[in-house]
Amino acid sequence: MKQKLISTFLLLTFIFSFLGQTTAQTMPKDADQALWQKALKIHRKAIIVDGHNDIPSPMVDDDFDLGTSSVGKFHKDGDPFHTDLARFKQSGITGEFFSIYVSGATLKTGGAMRRAMDLIDATYRETEKHPNELMPCTTAADIRRAKKQNKVCALMGIEGGYAIENSLSALREFYRLGVRYMTLTHNVTHDWADAHHDEPKNNGLSDFGKEVVREMNRLGMLVDISHVSVKVMSDVLDVSTAPIIASHSGARGVNDHTRNVPDDILKRVAKNGGVIMINFYPSFLDARTNTEENDRAKRLKPQLDALKEQYKDNQGAYNEAERKLLAENLIYIAPYTRIVDHIDHIKQVAGIDYVGIGSDFDGVPFLPAGMNGMEDLALVTYEMLRRGYSEKDISKVLGENFMQAFAQAEKVARIESRKISGDGSLKRINLK
Ligand SMILES: [Zn+2]
Repeated sequence: MKQKLISTFLLLTFIFSFLGQTTAQTMPKDADQALWQKALKIHRKAIIVDGHNDIPSPMVDDDFDLGTSSVGKFHKDGDPFHTDLARFKQSGITGEFFSIYVSGATLKTGGAMRRAMDLIDATYRETEKHPNELMPCTTAADIRRAKKQNKVCALMGIEGGYAIENSLSALREFYRLGVRYMTLTHNVTHDWADAHHDEPKNNGLSDFGKEVVREMNRLGMLVDISHVSVKVMSDVLDVSTAPIIASHSGARGVNDHTRNVPDDILKRVAKNGGVIMINFYPSFLDARTNTEENDRAKRLKPQLDALKEQYKDNQGAYNEAERKLLAENLIYIAPYTRIVDHIDHIKQVAGIDYVGIGSDFDGVPFLPAGMNGMEDLALVTYEMLRRGYSEKDISKVLGENFMQAFAQAEKVARIESRKISGDGSLKRINLK
């Protein structure tokens, strides 16, 4: 009997500790219960593709395992976690693009390709560790298969075109490793493409940059225009025969930020059949948040510098002190409904078929008010429903628009791949 009591106790402890690890989905404030239930139903049924998630970086740097709870935890740099397997379940995400993010600093230090390899390997290893929850994916058909198997389809996109180290053979190898999009720049201009907020060096895309785009079309790797200059966006649209994406950017018509896409480009993306996947970072979503965040950073710089000096040997203590200081200096944080303002705008300017979601989970220091992590994605569905979007239009935004663009890029690749010319196919191009 005593034995039985102990084992019951252990079982209950286990169940409660498990419950304690997960965050419940946040319900919208003053939610209409019937509408919320309807939103959840639509959300669960939909194929949901998220264009950008930076979780691979802590998987490599902090040995983070998706199987452990990330709720209430922070990256080494102090930013909060938004992703883990339990949170994936609640998010309803079917296809997630794991970001193979390579820092622009590698342009000086070298090691870009090695870094990309480490991130790709870490992503595969997670799918191997958790085969019941994750599957490695490379095609639109894979995403639909994952939905049927109730798994998350782990796709990969390179962020920072310099990861190919100016080599088309490296680009092809990355494709063979499963990479299905490449963001041509990150925040710095490099040898063949200009970044959104840096000195232009190539008047957009250089001749080699155009060759990269053509080769991506031929392979079936999506060209991603997040982070690039407007001239690069335009050059890409001139060259690309396949649909393009912005994996994590909003609309400048709502917030005139260099990370967002201007209206004339939105119209051209509609003609191209591409999709703009909205970034959830409040400073990209909203001008007021952006201004207040920048002002606060300037104002607190002396204090933050002093803390950096004080805790130069203790990153954890610095992060904690920084968090405390920021909490004492709160700013306006745009609510999650602002995401839908961007969706509305793109719907108006380009059409409902050309907008999607690209959260930037685990790549941003904070999320919109009301949203704690990926588990709260259904809030976006609820807000679209509340604004009168049809179920069909909601599923388009959540994933079907991306699926359309991806499938079309695969089709273009089948056609283009017959046209191998051999031009520059094996030589490594050193531009400097
Ligand atoms: Zn980014």
